[in-house]
Amino acid sequence: MAETLFDKIIRREIPADIVFEDDQCLAFKDINPQAPVHLLIIPKKQIPTINDLEPEDSPLVGHLFLVAKQLAAEQGFAEDGYRVVMNCNASAGQSVYHIHLHLLAGKPLGWPPY
Ligand code: 5GP
Repeated sequence: MAETLFDKIIRREIPADIVFEDDQCLAFKDINPQAPVHLLIIPKKQIPTINDLEPEDSPLVGHLFLVAKQLAAEQGFAEDGYRVVMNCNASAGQSVYHIHLHLLAGKPLGWPPY
């Protein structure tokens, strides 16, 4: 499986502004934020896309969402609102092939996203 820059961030080989870590995942600030708060929540397990998820990954994916919920609350956006999104493959805008949740908050977010 091809490594991505996110594996290097997990191993601290390239810097990132890390806001959360546990045994399963890491969360850090997006280098090119699309909102006042733009965090990426990534599993430590290498999974390139949503298409590569297996049934045994269900708890891990659920955990990523629970971490997103926790971080949104800590940042003060639980009531105001926030968006959690995961892109899959090129037409959806995926550029790093290591699944990640985007957590966006801090401004009104348009919908649909184009
Ligand atoms: P995708 O386009 O795959 O859904 O999201 C990848 C995200 O990773 C983009 O929002 C991009 O700004 C972010 N990103 C790319 N390279 C780096 C990096 O080196 N550091 C950080 N913190 N974010 C990055």
